[in-house]
This record gives sequence, structure tokens and C-alpha cells, in this order.
Amino acid sequence: MQIILNEKEHVKQLLNTSEDGSHGRSGLCKSARPAYELRLIARYYAQEYQLTPHKIYLKLIELMENAYDDFSIGTWQNFLLDCARDALKRPLVHMDFVPVTARELNVLAAQPEKPVRRVAFSMLCLAKYRNQAKEKNNDWINYAYRDIFKMANVSATIREQCQMIGLLCDRGLIHMNRIVDNLSLRVLFVDHSSSPEESGPILKITDFRNLGYLYRMYSGENFIRCENCGILMKPGKNGRKKYCTDCAPIVNVLKQRQRDAK
Ligand SMILES: [Zn+2]
Repeated sequence: MQIILNEKEHVKQLLNTSEDGSHGRSGLCKSARPAYELRLIARYYAQEYQLTPHKIYLKLIELMENAYDDFSIGTWQNFLLDCARDALKRPLVHMDFVPVTARELNVLAAQPEKPVRRVAFSMLCLAKYRNQAKEKNNDWINYAYRDIFKMANVSATIREQCQMIGLLCDRGLIHMNRIVDNLSLRVLFVDHSSSPEESGPILKITDFRNLGYLYRMYSGENFIRCENCGILMKPGKNGRKKYCTDCAPIVNVLKQRQRDAK
């Protein structure tokens, strides 16, 4: 799950020709979730360039044809028409950061169990993100529990996840939707005080990857950022670790290419 604070920038990057130089291929061909990205791109064309739904539809087809050799219009037509038609329904999200206040951090610090703090912290950040992205969101979130726990850097079985969420409900930190099979949760300790002096933002969240590590770093533990993608990670034992497990192989290949070129 990826939380995007600036959807306009994200789309611009997607539409850029990919770095391997293959002509006209957008970042779409590397996307793990093209359907989600297509909706964003449609909104971008509608809101930045005021294209009509028909023109957006044609643009999306062009992008898909360039991105996928086996693209078949028959399979995608209805979806792309939907994207084009709905492009003005929701504005593109743009925020510089999600603020976490001292009051909120105090609530978290009062929880005896460290993993509980990290899970609650992640839920809080998500709720505040949703509040900024959508008017009248009222502190609700709807994400798969496994995604929230991954974000919080807490490994737990499904049973343990449910127990922890039950615990947070009992302590009055969250409220669960009663409808069975619905993952909606309402975070009850979002600080809505109006004056920043009252509880000014202490933490500015700009990256939702590894929120659990961010919380631990805030609590005084040592973490480093990948020099390529900026994700927070544990420092290596010898202090020489520079890249995360995703970036290390890519960086190695690039370095080897540079050596070969010499
Ligand atoms: Zn990385």
C-alpha cells in the first residue's frame, strides 16, 4: 500500500519517460497497480488540462498501448470510460505533510506496549491523511489490517492483529464499525484543537513507509535512510549499510555498468 501526499507530482513522474530510455514508455508499464494509477492520470488530465472525458479516454488508451504490448481495448474499455467520466469527482490530493501533535503523542506514550503504540500511531497518521484528503472524513480509515501492521513494522498473526485492535477499542483509542467484514475504524484521539500554539505539530509526516520505524526513531532509537529511495531502515551491524533491500541490487547493477563503461 502506498500513501501519496502529492498526487500531481506522482502523476508527473509516472508520465515521464522511464529511465531505461525505452521510447515513449511511461512509468505505467512498471506500475504494480495500473488501475489505481489510471484513475489518478485521468484526474490529472481533467483538473490540470481541463480535457473532456472523451479526450481523456483517448489519452488513456494511448498510454496503455505504449505501456503494454498485449493491451486489449476490449478488456479495458469500460474501465477507461469510467476513469474519464469520474475524473472530476475528487480533486487531486496535495499536502506537504501530515502533522502529529504533542497531545496525540502523549496518548501514544501512555500505552504500555511498544507494538500497540506503533499500530495506534500508524492508524492516527492514516486518519489525519484521510481527513486532509477528503472533507467530512471525520477520522475514519478503511485499510486492510495487514497493511496497517506492515506500515507500523509490527509482525503479528491475524489473531494477534484482531486482539490488538480489540485492545485499542477497549481503551477508547479507536471505534470499530459494527458491520461484519467491514474494516472501517474511527480513530478517537485525533487532536482537533484549532490553535497551533495549543498543541503545535511536533512531527511532520512526509513518508508513510515504515511509520513504525519513524515512531521508534522519534522515541530515540537509531535508524538510517536508504540513500537511493529514502526509506527508513535499521542500520547495518558494521555501519556500512547504505541501501534498502529493494534498492541494493539495482544500485549494484548501475555501479557495475559504470565500471564496465570505464
Ligand atoms: Zn531504497
